[in-house]
Amino acid sequence: MKPDVIIIGAGVAGSSCAIKLAQNGIKTVLIDRGMPIGSKNLSGGVLWGNDLEEIIPNWQEEAPIERYIINKKVGFLSESDATVLDFHFDSWNNKPYPGVALLRAKFDEWLAQQAEKAGVVVLSGITVDELAFENGAVVGVKQEDEILTAPIVIIAEGANPRLLLKHGMTYRGAEDRYDYRDMAIGLKEVIKLDQKILEERFLLEGNQGLAGEFIMGNIPDSDVLAGGFFYTNKASLSIGCVVHLDSMRTKDRVYEIIEHFKNHPYIARLLKGGESIEYGAKLIPEMDYKKFPAPSGDGFMVIGDAAGFVFSNGIMIQGMNYGIKSGLLAADTAIEAKQNGDYTAKSLKSYDKALNNSYVMKDFKKLKNVKKMTKNPRLFKVYPKGINDGFRNYLTETGDPKDNMMKILLKNMKESGAGLFTLMRDGLRARHL
Ligand SMILES: Cc1cc2nc3c(=O)[nH]c(=O)nc-3n(C[C@H](O)[C@H](O)[C@H](O)COP(=O)(O)OP(=O)(O)OC[C@H]3O[C@@H](n4cnc5c(N)ncnc54)[C@H](O)[C@@H]3O)c2cc1C
Repeated sequence: MKPDVIIIGAGVAGSSCAIKLAQNGIKTVLIDRGMPIGSKNLSGGVLWGNDLEEIIPNWQEEAPIERYIINKKVGFLSESDATVLDFHFDSWNNKPYPGVALLRAKFDEWLAQQAEKAGVVVLSGITVDELAFENGAVVGVKQEDEILTAPIVIIAEGANPRLLLKHGMTYRGAEDRYDYRDMAIGLKEVIKLDQKILEERFLLEGNQGLAGEFIMGNIPDSDVLAGGFFYTNKASLSIGCVVHLDSMRTKDRVYEIIEHFKNHPYIARLLKGGESIEYGAKLIPEMDYKKFPAPSGDGFMVIGDAAGFVFSNGIMIQGMNYGIKSGLLAADTAIEAKQNGDYTAKSLKSYDKALNNSYVMKDFKKLKNVKKMTKNPRLFKVYPKGINDGFRNYLTETGDPKDNMMKILLKNMKESGAGLFTLMRDGLRARHL
């Protein structure tokens, strides 16, 4: 077979793209190093949005989904206290569900099977080492001395884009590695829990699910800035942390950070009786959109994490939705290019335009200043303690005379390290969240 398109990487981005291409009669080869597909993949993971409907109308019924999110918790953890906002949205309990909890190993394998059913040639267990070039244009993939050619190569290799780095196709200034200041590391553990206990513990009925995200103000003697999360699966919990790499020092150990999260009294009681059955870590891009690699060029397009499309602000992390959407938009461009017989950079530029007109680039542009708050050490080192101390003092009803809530909160914030002016300044920054 002489393919029209080769896709490197069968994560959610690559497989979604492949399905759409095959549904439109484009001969597609999808290559992944994982065997089985999905075995290398990792997310928290809640998939937000309904973009998959475009290619698999009943995906929310057919896919291996763990639970439908109707409850979200957002919290601040200090040394041993927690202030947690508990959101229960009954409207989320309707189809199409806005967010679904899933386990990537199962989900990605299923998605790649849908690609195969649609007619994609799926090659698993193969790591692409090199791209093939002719007159500066990407013309295929190269393994040792063999070249598999296609007019379009779509790069969906995820957060550690070794091919882009190898061929100097990342943002300006990056040579053989990304700037660590533009990356976070995500740690994830799956804790098995009896289904009945899980449903009683988290007050879940049927397939309902819960997503919790927490600012970790409970990492002692360290500058590490991290957030923790847990998501309910059918009979397990996905639990983990996202750590800004540039806040880590050589003495810091990522496995200790996740232990701080798991051992916090608020979290520990939720894990009681559970058994750890999976453990993994993966990079998460968190770069300014101006540093994203060029999404397209002569003979190629870049989708998903490889293109930098992940957003996280401590209380939200999303990347799968951007991966799927960018994959579908790249497929549209490839279909159009085949119709016109034009695979030049000029022709594939319509992918960049489609991205700019979609929620993908609109989100990144609107939320461009989010780091002003998410990399603000006070968000982790001052406010969780101030908030917890303040509310504890206000809510401890021992009959002693007390001040009003605002006075107590301000006093505790000051004691934790944020005076009125700092609070006002950070209050302004918080608008970027
Ligand atoms: C701890 C953690 C929690 C997260 N939580 C969430 C969440 O709750 N919600 C959310 O939306 N996002 C979340 N994300 C982000 C999300 O995981 C990514 O945005 C998403 O996986 C991107 O999909 P992708 O298809 O672009 O890349 P990936 O899923 O990384 O897939 C890339 C694929 O390419 C393959 N590959 C790589 N290199 C090669 C090569 N050279 N040759 C062949 N194959 C190759 C890999 O095997 C893999 O299958 C989280 C990430 C982490 C680390």
